[in-house]
Amino acid sequence: MRLKAYGKTDVGLQRSNNEDSFYIDEQRGLFIVADGMGGHAAGEIASAMAISVVREILEPEFDQQYSADHWQSLLAEAINRADRAIIEAAAENPAWNGMGTTLTVLLIQADRLLLGHVGDSRLYRWRSQQLEQLSEDHTLVAEQLRRGILDQQQADSSNLRNILLQAVGLGEDLDICLKNLTVAAGDRLLLSSDGLTDMLSEEQISAILTETRDADQGCAELLSAALEAGGKDNVTTVLIEVERS
Ligand code: CA
Repeated sequence: MRLKAYGKTDVGLQRSNNEDSFYIDEQRGLFIVADGMGGHAAGEIASAMAISVVREILEPEFDQQYSADHWQSLLAEAINRADRAIIEAAAENPAWNGMGTTLTVLLIQADRLLLGHVGDSRLYRWRSQQLEQLSEDHTLVAEQLRRGILDQQQADSSNLRNILLQAVGLGEDLDICLKNLTVAAGDRLLLSSDGLTDMLSEEQISAILTETRDADQGCAELLSAALEAGGKDNVTTVLIEVERS
């Protein structure tokens, strides 16, 4: 498979700094989105640190012919290492106390899609004009939805939507969402921070993906739609096109 990706991030219309970070490596098929939190610009530090630790762990391994299972355990290890690095950095610097980040790491190798994820940033797959969320939301509301305490409509309108049950850097023993799936030529994969998905419904995202032809244009249109809808938070989108090589 050949991968073509484009990413864009924007501070949005109501925040003074951008705590989101993202990373794209089309050649090796590594894509990361992290949405940081914490005062005194610590959110930016947490999200950037998470990405750099994941790269540090994974990049030396790319020459190896590992099984998907082995890559998956490396993904989990990289996320756990990022968790500990942020906890240690915050312990050494009081201004960084309480910083953390979501972390969504996507690795595509041949027709394999491996996901390692913590938090409420999202990975979607767009296939045959259907949008499917592949990542789980580690939020209180998503948990209540899974348990049947809330229905979808209540969940969508809840003002507790942004309460995370776990984040990288905020505790040990992460329950990492790991997935091992396939990709096919023609698929599009969308990684985004909640600044996109809180502003746009899945119907609106689908409509934009239907109308746009490439990753570059798709990203730009998604971002401007999120800003038009209010841009309440930092917005990050990474859109990946899977093509036959
Ligand atoms: Ca956010």
